[in-house]
Amino acid sequence: MDMELQAMYQALGVGPAVYRYGEAALERLRDRFAAIDRTAEYNQAKVLRAMQENRVNATHFAATTGYGYDDEGRDNLERVYASVFHTEAALVRPQITCGTHALAVALSANLLPGDELLSPVGAPYDTLEEVIGIRPGKCSLREYGVTYAQADLTPEGGFDYEAIRSKINSRTKLVTIQRSKGYATRPSFSVEQIGELTAFCKSVKPDVKVMVDNCYGEFVETREPSDLGADMVVGSLIKNPGGGLAPIGGYICGTKECVERCAYRLSAPGLGQEVGANLGLMPAFYQGLFLAPTVTAGALKGAVFAASLYEGLGFPCVPGAAEDRCDIIQAVTLGSREAMLAFCKGIQAAAPVDSYVTPEPWAMPGYDSEVVMAAGAFVQGSSIELSADGPIRPPYAVYFQGGLTWQHAKLGILMSLQKLAEAGLVKLPE
Ligand SMILES: *Cc1c(COP(=O)(O)O)cnc(C)c1O
Repeated sequence: MDMELQAMYQALGVGPAVYRYGEAALERLRDRFAAIDRTAEYNQAKVLRAMQENRVNATHFAATTGYGYDDEGRDNLERVYASVFHTEAALVRPQITCGTHALAVALSANLLPGDELLSPVGAPYDTLEEVIGIRPGKCSLREYGVTYAQADLTPEGGFDYEAIRSKINSRTKLVTIQRSKGYATRPSFSVEQIGELTAFCKSVKPDVKVMVDNCYGEFVETREPSDLGADMVVGSLIKNPGGGLAPIGGYICGTKECVERCAYRLSAPGLGQEVGANLGLMPAFYQGLFLAPTVTAGALKGAVFAASLYEGLGFPCVPGAAEDRCDIIQAVTLGSREAMLAFCKGIQAAAPVDSYVTPEPWAMPGYDSEVVMAAGAFVQGSSIELSADGPIRPPYAVYFQGGLTWQHAKLGILMSLQKLAEAGLVKLPE
């Protein structure tokens, strides 16, 4: 069997030295993988229970068009999401075009002129800079008279509680906490940590609302930030909760008050959640959510495997190979443009779609430096599918994530290492 598998890897382009190095690393990861499977088992049950409680049936998969009034499939999907995230309400729509859009809706719906937004975890995700107006942008919150304050993390990557307290004032209306590191080399936060930070902010100012950018964090743990006091959790359906099947969409789960405002912002005041046809996407949304816990588990195994391989070769990894996971992202600091390109070439070469193309750096809208991306995905830009990307700037870190199956993630990582080895950028142990 082993010889047969090794021959198949060879046929795909992974040589024996890389294969053997990978197998040795895997031996040490058995317990980690077992723990990831247990979390997936719990989350699978959680999603199933939410579907059963809301009596999901075939009528919920019917397509609607036009205004989408009385769209029971859409309305029930929102109840299922609310059950999974233990919130009063949810907005889950194909009309939310991506994660940034979901976050922009949540922010602009819940901040009015004169209000202040606070990030207690340092700079937000790149694309939010223009939404907030940190970088000048048309239609930013800043243009509408919403100001922004930020408390940076401590040098160790922890919360700077004194700085946070000093930044909360009479105008502070909303606190935004990003769960995942995004394109930064800071640590991602556990649900427990986010819960503590949420409680702290509310102890300083009881009526402040807390929104969590939940991108890449869904189903990594058994709890979500909404279980520990967040008023809104927000994310993209072409990441974890879409399970790889959702072709578009975003979600906002939270209190009735917050979600209602988001619905009015997304469609129009007075219309809210009543409009928005599902366009035949309900089977993909329901089934994707059903698969999301196990798909997330496969992606987590890939991340742990990547850290284990690359750390062993001397490349700094965040999180480290032995550390607990708070999201599916694995940052690997490769130290040079050439190594970033080789890594991405390997991920691309392992893809089921577009495996024959070479990733080139480009100026992606919303990002302020060139970005290189490897993705051979069934859904364009989907990063729950195996992908790697990163801004081409020091420290030249790639952010690796996804894999609809663990086996594919494994192949992608081995292939990335193969490309680095072929370019003479890494030396494998004999
Ligand atoms: C992906 C991501 C976003 C933005 O999502 P898009 O779907 O790319 O617009 C925001 N925040 C974090 C932490 C993300 O990972």
